[in-house]
Order: sequence, then C-alpha cells, then structure tokens
Amino acid sequence: MMDGRDPKQKIAATWSPLGTDCEWGEVTRQYVAYLQKQPHFKLRLSTEVEGIAKNPDGSWRVTSKNLKDGSRQSVDAKFVFIGAGGGALHLLQKSGIPEGDDYGGFPVGGSFLINDNPDVATLHLAKAYGKASVGSPPMSVPHLDTRVIGGKRAILFGPFATFSTKFLKEGSYLDLLSSTTSSNVWPMVRVGIDEFPLVEYLAGQLMLSDDDRIAALREYFPKAKKDEWRLWQAGQRVQIIKRDADKGGVLKLGTEIVNARDGSIAALLGASPGASTAAPIMLQVLEKVFPKNVATPEWQAKIREIVPSYGTKLNDDPERVAQEWAATSTALQLPTPPRIDRSVLKPVPVSGTVLNSNATPVTEPVHDLAP
Ligand SMILES: Cc1cc2nc3c(=O)[nH]c(=O)nc-3n(C[C@H](O)[C@H](O)[C@H](O)COP(=O)(O)OP(=O)(O)OC[C@H]3O[C@@H](n4cnc5c(N)ncnc54)[C@H](O)[C@@H]3O)c2cc1C
Repeated sequence: MMDGRDPKQKIAATWSPLGTDCEWGEVTRQYVAYLQKQPHFKLRLSTEVEGIAKNPDGSWRVTSKNLKDGSRQSVDAKFVFIGAGGGALHLLQKSGIPEGDDYGGFPVGGSFLINDNPDVATLHLAKAYGKASVGSPPMSVPHLDTRVIGGKRAILFGPFATFSTKFLKEGSYLDLLSSTTSSNVWPMVRVGIDEFPLVEYLAGQLMLSDDDRIAALREYFPKAKKDEWRLWQAGQRVQIIKRDADKGGVLKLGTEIVNARDGSIAALLGASPGASTAAPIMLQVLEKVFPKNVATPEWQAKIREIVPSYGTKLNDDPERVAQEWAATSTALQLPTPPRIDRSVLKPVPVSGTVLNSNATPVTEPVHDLAP
C-alpha cells in the first residue's frame, strides 16, 4: 500500500495486529458435518421452500420442492426461523404474519476487483479499510483485503455497487416486483424520494468504467497493474425498507429480526448481516422469541457456557476485552494478543487526509502508540 506512493502524502491509519481471515464456507461445512451426526438433524440440499402456512393448531407447515427430481415435501414445525438471505423477505410475506407487512426490500449488488496472482497476492497480508466517500452509504466502505479461499491467497478490492432487480445472485428478475405489496409500496416510494443521495451513489457506481475502478484501487495499491485484476460479482444484498409512521418509509442499512407476536416464526432481514455477526443475531433471536426460557437459570448457564461474555458490555471494560481476546486467540490457535499499556498512549494532533481522498479530513486528535 505504501510502495509507489508519493512520500509527501499525509496518511492517517490505525493498525491492529489482532485478527485472522476466516473461511466461513469451511466453518459451515464442519459445523453441518457435526450436526449431521446428531439424531434430530436433517439437511436437505437442492431444496427450495415454496410455502409457509399456519396450521389450525398454531404450528407451521413448510412446503418445499426438490429441485433435482421435482418432488415436494412438507414439514410441520412449532417454530420456524427464516434465514434465507435475499430470499427471506418473500418467505416472510408467504407466512402472512402482519409484522411482515411493514417491510419491503431494495436490492444492491456488490462486485470486487480480485487478484490471485501469487506474486502480487503475497505482497499484502492485511484487511485495510478506508472511509466511505462523503454522502455514500456505509456499505460502500472501500477495503483492500487478503482472502484465503481453499488455501489460495488472493487480494480483493471493493466493493463497487451493482444493480439488478434480483434478490439472490441466482434469483429472478421479477424479485423486486413480486415483493412489492399494497402495504410496502408507499414506504418504497417515500424512500426513493428521501434517499436521493443513495440513488445518486448507485447511478455513479453503475457508470464507472474499468479505468475508474482501477483509479480507485490505485488510491490503496498505487502500483496496481490493470491487466492483473478482474472484476468479480460477489453477492446481492437486499436493503430493508420499513414503514415509518412519520416519514412513510425509511431505508435501514443494517439487519432486523422480524418475529410474530406469538414467537412461533422469525425472519432475519437486511443487507449483509455478516457471517461474523451470526452469533449475536442468534442470541437476539433467542431473547426475542423465547424470552421466558432465556430468563431461566438453565438457559442462562448454557448460554454463558457457549458465550462466556454474554450480557457483559465490553466497550467500557478493557480488562474483559483482553480476557475475551486471549480466550478467542487460544481457541483459534492464533498468537496471544499483546497487552497494550494504556499509560503510553498520548494524544497527537494530526491533520491530513485519510486514504480515500473524498473522505472527511482527519482533524481530531488521534492516539499514537509511541511513548
Ligand atoms: C464478497 C463478500 C464478502 C463477504 N465477507 C464477509 C466477511 O468477511 N465477514 C462477514 O462477516 N461477512 C461477510 N460477507 C457477508 C456474509 O457473507 C453474509 O452476510 C452472510 O452470508 C449472510 O448469511 P445468511 O445465512 O443470512 O444468508 P446467505 O448466506 O445469503 O444464505 C441464504 C441461503 O438461503 C437460500 N435460500 C433463499 N431462498 C430460499 C428458499 N426459498 N428455499 C431454500 N433456500 C433458500 C439461498 O440460496 C442461500 O443459500 C461477505 C459477503 C460477500 C458477498
């Protein structure tokens, strides 16, 4: 990131030695392999859920189609969790719960420049995040990342926003239209009017040429050679549009758990919740859907066994953070994190630019680790 950069350019950065790349696909495969050995677990691949309907006894009937042989099955369940990424909104709407009427979705895709040439990929071992340009949504934060996929190292730079009316990468072009209902159409129109900067941002992204993208990359990687990088369509997100009493509709950039009042069904909506946020999301689902069980000493003990820091606010407790980091590093077989002696931190006034030239200049005092 520094090679080829104008030595007079002022740069502000913070650096942490902690962290690792994590291949969630592999984590998922190992986790499911364990679950498959359990007596009450069934994995159905190539199966698409087509319907969710309430039975007279309050349970749910979930019907699905085997995409390989066309056969259909149904399962009855007392509790259903809809975790279908971009497919979740449609399934929530199929359940017919009134809580789902408040929601609509707006798809935004993401593409990345990727370089898996080992001579280049091994030059950069970091996850370097910049700042979103002024007026751009937080999901646009540019980053230059090391990724290890199937043991092979690559560098990714992006994201660049893309637009398609599909809700899933392999979805249908009718997804946006078919998710529009009489309840969510007005919130969607309001958001279209109120969130004009997002529309402008998307239009600007769609007009980027290959040279524009390489120019953006060179802010991070000055010596990037155009012919070594290819554009890769990474994924599709569905941003939440929620009905709002005052504004008509609001755009939500995070995730939201929507559950029926009786706690019998819950769905995770929203853009890119993040594989790494799956655990806190599931804890929230437990708290929202099974509040009585979560309050019992048995559940509390079990949750704390799985998540020792459960219920502790770590933000204001550096000691506890250090303990958690150390425990996590041991579990993941990472080097033990260094202890930071906070007494050596001193504020240093800095003014200059951060890596993204459109970002707000840094004028706040920052902390320097040097004694
Ligand atoms: C390029 C890229 C890099 C990322 N990097 C990170 C990262 O470093 N760290 C991080 O935390 N997060 C990262 N994310 C985000 C993360 O991948 C997602 O937030 C996460 O995968 C969402 O998980 P999910 O299970 O909710 O949904 P998904 O992973 O989207 O899974 C939903 C599944 O449901 C299926 N489905 C949909 N409809 C139906 C239906 N009707 N019947 C049956 N199945 C259905 C879909 O086919 C899909 O397989 C990244 C995302 C991208 C695109």
